[in-house]
Amino acid sequence: MAIPDNVLKQVWERAGGQCECEKRTHSHFYVPCAKPLVWENRGKKGWGGWEIKHIDVNKGDVASNLEVVCITCFEAQV
Ligand SMILES: [Zn+2]
Ligand SMILES: [Zn+2]
Repeated sequence: MAIPDNVLKQVWERAGGQCECEKRTHSHFYVPCAKPLVWENRGKKGWGGWEIKHIDVNKGDVASNLEVVCITCFEAQV
């Protein structure tokens, strides 16, 4: 499941280097997580680590179906 580079960059720019997660079940509750992320730290744990997530697993690799989330949120998907 490789997301094309140009799509990845597009989603990253939309996110503005922050976690886009708005899940109310997470510890950030009613506000977006907005944790600062570092481009080079994709897939890494710890500070600035993040991953790309499909909002709907049945939809494709398009920017509208992807969000940038910090590793904490990524692993906490509920
Ligand atoms: Zn997060
Ligand atoms: Zn979250």
